[in-house]
Amino acid sequence: MLTPVATRIKGAIMAVPDALTHLLCSIREPIVCAKCADEVASGAAGAVSMRDYGRLEAGFTERGLQVWCRRHDLNVVHVDFDGATPEADFRCLERRVN
Ligand SMILES: [Zn+2]
Repeated sequence: MLTPVATRIKGAIMAVPDALTHLLCSIREPIVCAKCADEVASGAAGAVSMRDYGRLEAGFTERGLQVWCRRHDLNVVHVDFDGATPEADFRCLERRVN
C-alpha cells in the first residue's frame, strides 16, 4: 500500500507516495572536495558556504562513479562498483502547475 508523504517541493506542500520518497533529497553526508573545504573553513574563499563554493561534477566511469572538483581539477572520490550495476533512479519529482 502506498502511503503519501507530505513534503515541500519548490515551496509547495506535495503528497509523495511512499514508493517515491527516495527521490526526495535524503543526503546525510554531503561529498565535498577537501581543498575546497579547507579554503571555506580558513576563510580563504571569502564569506561563502561550502554549498555555494563547491564546483563538483559527477559521472559514471569504467570503475563506477567519480566525483571531480572542477575548481581544483582533482578527484574527490571514485566509487568502485566492482563490476556490479547498482540500481539507479534518474527520475525527478517536480511540482506540476495546473
Ligand atoms: Zn576543490
